[in-house]
Amino acid sequence: SHSYQHKNIAVFGLGKSGMATARQLHLGAAHVFVWDDNEARRQAAQEAGLIVQDLTENSWPEAEALVLSPGVPLTHPTPHPVVNLAKKAGAAVIGDIEIFLQEKEAGRIIGVTGTNGKSTTSALIHHLLASAGKSTALGGNIGTPVMDLPELELEGCYVLELSSYQLDLTPSWQADVAILLNITPDHLDRHGDMEGYAAVKKRIFQHQDENGIAIINIDDPICEHIATCLAIYGEGKLVPISTETSVSGGVSVIDGRLEDLSVGDQSWTMDISKIGSLRGRHNWQNAAAAVAAARSVGLTPEEIRSGLQSFGGLSHRMEEVGRCENILFINDSKATNAEAAEKALTSFGNIFWIAGGRPKAGGISSLAPHFGRIREAFLIGEAADQFAETLDGKVLYRNCGDLTKAVQMAAQAAQKAGHKSSVVLLSPAAASFDQFTSFEARGDAFRAAVQQWIKEAQS
Ligand code: ADP
Repeated sequence: SHSYQHKNIAVFGLGKSGMATARQLHLGAAHVFVWDDNEARRQAAQEAGLIVQDLTENSWPEAEALVLSPGVPLTHPTPHPVVNLAKKAGAAVIGDIEIFLQEKEAGRIIGVTGTNGKSTTSALIHHLLASAGKSTALGGNIGTPVMDLPELELEGCYVLELSSYQLDLTPSWQADVAILLNITPDHLDRHGDMEGYAAVKKRIFQHQDENGIAIINIDDPICEHIATCLAIYGEGKLVPISTETSVSGGVSVIDGRLEDLSVGDQSWTMDISKIGSLRGRHNWQNAAAAVAAARSVGLTPEEIRSGLQSFGGLSHRMEEVGRCENILFINDSKATNAEAAEKALTSFGNIFWIAGGRPKAGGISSLAPHFGRIREAFLIGEAADQFAETLDGKVLYRNCGDLTKAVQMAAQAAQKAGHKSSVVLLSPAAASFDQFTSFEARGDAFRAAVQQWIKEAQS
């Protein structure tokens, strides 16, 4: 439904999602004007046949809407100038997901938001549906920009991962199934304060009608409060999830035992404690949410059971990248802060821990309760001295400089220690930018170093 046909639309920010939006609107016969502060991106847009026009100048084109990249400040700390100019010109300020929802012809929407676990949960839902042979597509904040997703069958499901930035830019958001995983103080700079952040996350449930499903983690106090509000005002069905208590009408995973009570008299259970890609309590939360979603769109317990078994997990999130003798090698490069690294540290024992990079506020002092699991720490990057100070007198440590050296030293130490089982764990608790371009590049370098070490150890 080309609702933007012959309309003027401005697109600001020409990353992957901005380019996809501009291209698709252009193909749909809209008049598209694009701009990016980066000259190379403007150049690429021009070569793709798009009209490049400076949208930060006062001479704004008459436009129906401004499609903003999610990274561009909308309100906090101050709106980007382009936002004010657009508003003055009477254009609606929206994101690519808004356009996608208005243009899509078929398919149901499953939306996932929260501070942590969005990608894992979205990918798991998509995997459960795909492995059951359902029509499904995964996109949004993860992988493919929404405007590049394929068209699905009528009963197909779009699984969309949404950051609060994206929710901010989607005024007519309405999900068939909406999931709120957790809310912790993150990105507060953009939303001003915790209350503002909670309000945005709550928007994942907006406009749901009596056919809507709201899946909420009730272990989290803010989410629980939102669940209570929805129960009072909401029209749809509330499906609570928990990793603490068995929940009637919901899904729980306690000590690795999944219990699904979300569909009336058809309850079932499963032990997921041995599934490698779902290690750790945080992943049990993700699994509970995914099972609730899959069940709500009609998957059978048998389909879900086999899908959980075959889930490979995501790269760089407690990803198993090798085994050698009694040593397991785990890539958790995505853990760029102490809170995320804590998840990995509590999931293993006999840990030979590789940590460091560009440090974040607070460093690793909050991890002290878990130092007992660490046999030795191997420090890298700018954070090495600061981390060493925190570990001093509590955990053995060595400063290794770079990641390749750290892998060699940690693997050798694990081998020498000769425990029945050990883990060489990259869970850096720091950003990657001092030595790598991204956490993905850091994880890839770790994987390569591990494979090299194993090859040499076996020869
Ligand atoms: P997101 O997409 O929200 O950033 P991911 O699924 O990519 O989340 O997971 C990123 C990291 O967050 C993981 O490596 C893990 O340390 C942590 N994490 C994952 N799921 C959860 C959860 N449900 N609760 C808390 N932390 C989590």
